[in-house]
Amino acid sequence: MKALVLKTIKDLELSKDFPRPTISKKEVLIRVKYCGICGSDLEAYNYGKVLTPLILGHEFSGEIEEIGSKVTDWNIGDRVTAYPGEFCGKCYFCKKGEENRCISTMVGLGISVNGALAEYVKISSKSLCKLPDSVSYEDGALVEPLSVGYHGVKNSGIQSNDTAVVIGAGTIGLSTIQALKLSNIENIYIIEPSEFNRNLALQMGVQKAVRPSKINKIGPKFIFDCAGFPKTYKDAIHIVQRGGHVVLLGVHFENVPISFLEVIAKEVNLKGSFGYSFEEFKEVIALLSQKKFQTNLIVSKKVRFENAINEGFHELLKPNRKAAKILVEI
Ligand SMILES: [Zn+2]
Ligand SMILES: [Zn+2]
Repeated sequence: MKALVLKTIKDLELSKDFPRPTISKKEVLIRVKYCGICGSDLEAYNYGKVLTPLILGHEFSGEIEEIGSKVTDWNIGDRVTAYPGEFCGKCYFCKKGEENRCISTMVGLGISVNGALAEYVKISSKSLCKLPDSVSYEDGALVEPLSVGYHGVKNSGIQSNDTAVVIGAGTIGLSTIQALKLSNIENIYIIEPSEFNRNLALQMGVQKAVRPSKINKIGPKFIFDCAGFPKTYKDAIHIVQRGGHVVLLGVHFENVPISFLEVIAKEVNLKGSFGYSFEEFKEVIALLSQKKFQTNLIVSKKVRFENAINEGFHELLKPNRKAAKILVEI
């Protein structure tokens, strides 16, 4: 099968004869339709820290092609997406519905096992989610990144009259803005150096674009860092209101020096936000079917599989890129 394989750091290859996955009794094989390129795919490309060779990609939609002998409730041809981290379902956290905190398994699609930037991907049947007919395959590939913003906002404790500053208007920043709007937050501001991405946030209806140096002395009560750069981590702590909340959604693989003195002296609530629960993932699918997200502003372009490296990865790695989410049509 065709597959986009990370061979080692900064070395991606479009393989034409990668072995098609073979499924176990409780797995299904999915014929992938769309797969988004995620910031974490770019981090893996830039910094490695994944076992290579590896097929990247975890934001996908597709159709069931083959079903394991012990799988019930699913049929060949079903339109699906899937929760891309395999969870045990039995540990302390899974029992509470906090699958993103599962302690028993560390299986991440496109991170520790082969992902969905390929013609076929295999997945445990318990991670599957049905896509209603009203959700297109394109939107189906956005469930994952939308869930990241949805979880971050839902668990932040933000109230409707609070002010939020979102740092970064890439896919996760835009997803976070969408989730803030769904939570009826009116005062949303964006910090984003790229004019293209800034305009996407403005089109979504954020109040205003701001610069860290121009924020008043009181500062916003909530900051959502969706960029994940050493500078944005520091900016977030620096500009947040005393006693305010910094929610960290943007992932940076390297260690970053942070002034904990500032965190302590300002009584900043630092909150990591990682993934989303299975329930939240399904809630996002339901919201998508009700057309609650402006997905047209999140997807900047669709590229053919053959062009995924040049028009996808290389485009997104440009400092002056003009794109949020790029979907690969497979
Ligand atoms: Zn992702
Ligand atoms: Zn678990």
